[in-house]
Amino acid sequence: MPCPQTTARLGRSLSRIPARALSMLAPIALLAACTSVTLPPWTPSAPRPAASAPASSAPAAPPAAVQISPVAPPVTMGTPPTGPTYQPTPYSAAVAARFPAPSVVYNTPGLQAGRTTFTTQAEIQTWLHDQAVSVSRSAGVKAAVLPIGQSQRGEALEALILTRATGTDPTTLLATGRPTVLLVGQQHGDEPAGSEALLVIARELAQGLLQPLLEHINVVIVPRANPDGAASDQRATADGLDMNRDHLLLNTPEAQALAKLTRDYQPIVVVDAHEYPVAGRFLQKFGTVQKFDALLQYATAANLPEFLTKAAEEWYRRPLLVALKGQDLSTEWYYTTSTDMADKKVSMGGTQPDTSRNVNGLKNIVSLLIETRGVGIGRLHIQRRVHTHVTAITSVLASTAQRASELNQLRPYIDKEISAEACKGEAVVEAATTPAQHELVMLDPVSGADKPLMVDWDSALALRSIKARARPCGYWLSAGSTTAVDRLRLHGVQVLRVAEPGSLLGDSYRETSRAAGERQDVDGTIASNNPIIKVQVSLTRGVIDAPRGSYYVPLNQPLGNLVLAALEPDTQSSYFANQLLNGLQSTVRVMAEPNIKLEELP
Ligand SMILES: [Zn+2]
Repeated sequence: MPCPQTTARLGRSLSRIPARALSMLAPIALLAACTSVTLPPWTPSAPRPAASAPASSAPAAPPAAVQISPVAPPVTMGTPPTGPTYQPTPYSAAVAARFPAPSVVYNTPGLQAGRTTFTTQAEIQTWLHDQAVSVSRSAGVKAAVLPIGQSQRGEALEALILTRATGTDPTTLLATGRPTVLLVGQQHGDEPAGSEALLVIARELAQGLLQPLLEHINVVIVPRANPDGAASDQRATADGLDMNRDHLLLNTPEAQALAKLTRDYQPIVVVDAHEYPVAGRFLQKFGTVQKFDALLQYATAANLPEFLTKAAEEWYRRPLLVALKGQDLSTEWYYTTSTDMADKKVSMGGTQPDTSRNVNGLKNIVSLLIETRGVGIGRLHIQRRVHTHVTAITSVLASTAQRASELNQLRPYIDKEISAEACKGEAVVEAATTPAQHELVMLDPVSGADKPLMVDWDSALALRSIKARARPCGYWLSAGSTTAVDRLRLHGVQVLRVAEPGSLLGDSYRETSRAAGERQDVDGTIASNNPIIKVQVSLTRGVIDAPRGSYYVPLNQPLGNLVLAALEPDTQSSYFANQLLNGLQSTVRVMAEPNIKLEELP
């Protein structure tokens, strides 16, 4: 992997930082070695066939090759993970020829020759513990398996901590001054490649060729965030919720575990490893199968600080493109299309503050989504899918090592910037993507040839403000708002308690309309257990009584934008809409610095 970034470009990009942050413009010392990390040659393998477009003389596949059929039989929860759970989608040989296996062979338990199932939960646990035991102690590396929670069916959720600190607890890691990277796989149970790839990454960091990176970074790995879904080869968690729309609400124990891990270890970068459907809706709508090895996107939610996006783009995505191209792997922005067959629009990942990608952005973390082409094709191309994730994640780790000092400056700068915005200007309550046209290259399902299509494209790179309000100083919450308070604190939000009765100047919400509804994302309706309350509101300024035992959530804190996303009630992602708050009257926007006695919560 070449050193992907020039100091000249970096200097330009950061030159717009205000003068008070000039320390960031101090000569930017690239790490001496430029942290050039090559992909390890794990296992010898046969020479790699060239990836090329199919010759025109290639025999046409039989019509059955593009038959639209369910890939997997319906799976009910409780089905034991024995034997093959699905067959690959009918898929033409010419398409398959576009995706030759990589020149390396990965050999996690689930990738062994002859296997019909991916790595089981028990095998993942053994693998992680093996890494902790066999870690390169001579190189000063420490590793530990940390229990972080339990799935709905009682499976252990575990993280592997890898560091050269003297211990593996959060305080000791933070004291190293090295940035921490959190890698998360398989939030969606039917997307196995990220999980298998993270086992490879774990081993190579613990005792292999990626281990030198630990001189510059700490790494926390959760290979399988949704073991129940994985055991049943289904997207959702056991109760049918999409945990990757639950990262603000934290209704699932799986999302809670990741929130707590993030709060405690304070990663500077989070990678969320997924897979996307190869045929499915695209075959039905456009008569195509999908081409790109990797779809990439960073956080695109309202109110994100500009320099967080710049860091994601310039320090991470651009090197990622170079790294993937270097392995003959193709890339696009992340995109999807709705379940409505009449809707031919293609959308980038959306703006809602509910996914790992967006919620971690609101925590001022460089947040990266990596998706490989894998949903619905069983084990087809699995080595290539894993190789794509390994290549991408290796690039992210290397970029973090290379940019460690700048990242360590950027984070406190952004935290301070957001805190300083409290009581000032406007905050966006709701943002929308921008309609555009985009040429998207897909594949002909029979010939495998490139099929460029001009599509209506919702761009998340340019957000429009749909609804904005004056940014309050903070929010008052009624004493009964304990569920919301607990969830905010799980995110690491500072919540204070009113110690003596007092009064506050604030804007109360008055309901002007109400309807029941369901949360929507760019795919359609979000899998959820409860309808949401969709309200429209007006604001009334006044002095309100703040009784002892009620709460105050200040916005002059680094997670101020996450608080806004949770507490403005008239959005589909809010704590009010999702019934984590008892009513509109339990929240008041506090519009002047409170002059009341507040105390920390225990
Ligand atoms: Zn997914």
